[in-house]
Amino acid sequence: MGPSAASPPFGEHHEELRESVGRFVEKEIVPHTDEWEEAREFPGDLFTRCGELGFLGLKFPAEYGGQGGDHLDDAVWVEELSRRGASGGVAAGLNAHSSIAMPPVFEFGDEWQRQRWVVPGIRGEKVGALGITEPGAGSDVASIRTMATKVEGGWVVNGSKTFITNGVRADFLVCACRTTEEGGHGGISFLVLESDMPGYEVTGKLEKLGWHSSDTGELAFEDVEVPETHLLGEENGGFALIMSNFAWERLLMAIGAVGAMDHLIEKAITYTKERHAFGRPVADFQATRHRLAEMATTAAASRTLTVDTLRRFHEGEDVTREVSMAKLFTQRALVEIADDTVQLFGGWGYMREYQVERALRDARLGPIGGGTDEIMKEIIGKTMGL
Ligand SMILES: Cc1cc2nc3c(=O)[nH]c(=O)nc-3n(C[C@H](O)[C@H](O)[C@H](O)COP(=O)(O)OP(=O)(O)OC[C@H]3O[C@@H](n4cnc5c(N)ncnc54)[C@H](O)[C@@H]3O)c2cc1C
Repeated sequence: MGPSAASPPFGEHHEELRESVGRFVEKEIVPHTDEWEEAREFPGDLFTRCGELGFLGLKFPAEYGGQGGDHLDDAVWVEELSRRGASGGVAAGLNAHSSIAMPPVFEFGDEWQRQRWVVPGIRGEKVGALGITEPGAGSDVASIRTMATKVEGGWVVNGSKTFITNGVRADFLVCACRTTEEGGHGGISFLVLESDMPGYEVTGKLEKLGWHSSDTGELAFEDVEVPETHLLGEENGGFALIMSNFAWERLLMAIGAVGAMDHLIEKAITYTKERHAFGRPVADFQATRHRLAEMATTAAASRTLTVDTLRRFHEGEDVTREVSMAKLFTQRALVEIADDTVQLFGGWGYMREYQVERALRDARLGPIGGGTDEIMKEIIGKTMGL
């Protein structure tokens, strides 16, 4: 179980990174889990701390303050966050910033935009969020209604977004807007909105089943004036950005799930060896051993599919189908493994103490967020000519 030492596509330096992320998570994140879950957010200085340690800039070039690595370094960071026991909420908040909001600014942005959002973002001094979903448009991304109307020198934005991770505290929002009356695939553009722009309002912080320590915001825009320098990439070319971002976001979700599976299985093994029933350790019952064996098999299959997809993604292959498969398979699998873990813990699994009830609640977002299971199946079906 777990990532085997430096097996491809990972090299020796990834093992060192695993260790340093692991030490950080166990010492500076895990001990605060309950407090941050109750507060419904983690402290803002966790971003600057992660920035100081270089974790927010792993895949960005050194000239921007990054570590000069690539997707594989980011994958190690995401996997170790969950493998060492960070809550889904903490992982979601940190990654929505460093792995979901910043990459399109870097990839599609010009030098001024990189300096304005990526450089302070890598230091954790500015926090980013990605704003696509709206009250009336989730899976059907092309039907978003937030409208950016062209005016002299820029746009005026009106509309709203919901379910935005980091939405309450974000300094900048990478925001999908309609830039033609018709909207749709050829009429969406990305504008970077800043939270201190007049007319930009955080209208709500949502209560959720899981991910309690991440803030999930509702936003409203009323005549927000956005200068033309805030357009990311091509006008009306926003769909390309959405698609390129989704591939990485979904792959990261699969990687995070693989890490979380290892964490839960280790916990379940330890607990069932220590807990006694009918005069012997619970792990001695055949039913327990078989359940653990099935969990480990599912985790291994998840890891193999995910790491192989990551390797091919890293080599530049089009892995749209495999990413969708990895996302589909791992997110459901993690819900099942978390549920199995709760079962193995018995009543204690239902209590807060061992954090497995939280893991189950956190896992439930996987088959919904970043594209639902049903949408993954649609994509996979299309690649099969269906
Ligand atoms: C905690 C949390 C954090 C999030 N963070 C962000 C964020 O940071 N930024 C952001 O932009 N979004 C974010 N999201 C939104 C998330 O990506 C959407 O919830 C997701 O894409 C699903 O959209 P929806 O909720 O509108 O569901 P809907 O699209 O309304 O779907 C409802 C049901 O219909 C099904 N369905 C829809 N279309 C089809 C179809 N063609 N075929 C079959 N079934 C279909 C769905 O699978 C689902 O079962 C977040 C969501 C949550 C809950």
